[in-house]
Amino acid sequence: MNIKRIEDTLNEFNKIGYSRHGMNRLAFTKEEEKVKRVLIELCEKEGMEARIDHCGNVIMIKEGKNPNLAPVIIGSHLDTVYNGGQYDGSVGVGVGVEIICSINDRNIQPERRVELICFVGEEASRFGMGTIGSSAMAGKFDQEVMSRLTDQEGVSFPKAVENVELDFETIRLASREGERIHAFFEVHIEQGPVLENHQKKIGVVTAIAAPTRLKVTIVGKASHSGTTPMNYRKDALLGASEIALTVEEAAKLEAVNGTVATVGQCSVFPGAMNVVPGRAEMKIDIRGTNVESKQVVVLKLLECFKDLKNRRHLDIQYEYLVDKAPVKLDTKMINSLSTTCEELGVPHLQMVSGAGHDAMNMASICPTGLLFIPCKEGLSHHKNEFASIEDIAIGAQVLEHEILKSM
Ligand SMILES: [Zn+2]
Repeated sequence: MNIKRIEDTLNEFNKIGYSRHGMNRLAFTKEEEKVKRVLIELCEKEGMEARIDHCGNVIMIKEGKNPNLAPVIIGSHLDTVYNGGQYDGSVGVGVGVEIICSINDRNIQPERRVELICFVGEEASRFGMGTIGSSAMAGKFDQEVMSRLTDQEGVSFPKAVENVELDFETIRLASREGERIHAFFEVHIEQGPVLENHQKKIGVVTAIAAPTRLKVTIVGKASHSGTTPMNYRKDALLGASEIALTVEEAAKLEAVNGTVATVGQCSVFPGAMNVVPGRAEMKIDIRGTNVESKQVVVLKLLECFKDLKNRRHLDIQYEYLVDKAPVKLDTKMINSLSTTCEELGVPHLQMVSGAGHDAMNMASICPTGLLFIPCKEGLSHHKNEFASIEDIAIGAQVLEHEILKSM
């Protein structure tokens, strides 16, 4: 692996959308279009052919010796969150470019066609919906749902795709469901602290956690904070506080099953210092790779709601915003990637992914492998996100071996 070349590739990507507050290459924007162009130019220099599918995903192709064999695909994304980092997504695409260059350096013509894909719209920041490009490729693009999404500026999803010269009506044609694909691989920064803490260089992902998200509305009674005696109050915030503590308690009991839960949003109404809160709205994010375990947390919450109704006389309503099933990755792939790490003497760890990735969609249409590389202090979606080029090169080396093995 050529460390300098990997660094140059990442620098080329990160010239686009750079600011001192972080990277801004939001989904379906001019910046994402520009960085896709940069990728195409880099790959065309390596003799690859570019194709853009109906969703805007870039598919770079290196033909194999045997056109009858199903292709091997490497992919990740180049879009970012608002004020994001320089490694999330870029690393996976950069590693793909490096593997192609490295194979070309040695004049290897692989048996199978190799594709390098840059999926569009992986981050949910703009439309509240992520992994859009890979969903479309996996045949899971829901036109009905997508037609209703808008960004912060009120631009609808159909309008946004039209602005980058895509046709909303034909996005579903990006589906490759039913096509023969030998394997899909993604390399991604871990976005968590596990590898660094265990001093491992590679995480072989066994499963990708899925979120269950609830919106909870607690209704009490707004009243004067000076004239309402304590025993006459129906304080919605105090109910919300008990719910937040129950979320922690329930998730801690389920930690053995890898479940985590968070209250990341809570609003209090009317929101005045001298008014007892009459209403509170909170959003709860429960994640894990074990469906039953996530359900245990939800059941504890429902018990808590009942208790608050009786004890604090609060009215509690809830709705599911998301309830997705976790994705287990291909066992053969996990074993094969772990063996490759052993063969290369790379310290590795099998682990689950707490965050969603394009790999989870590809896993529904072909055998899929996901590799993590360490990132500093687990920091991600932040301008100070960092992964060392040496560690990225190890990821590239492992994946290159794996791909040549699978030919
Ligand atoms: Zn990512």
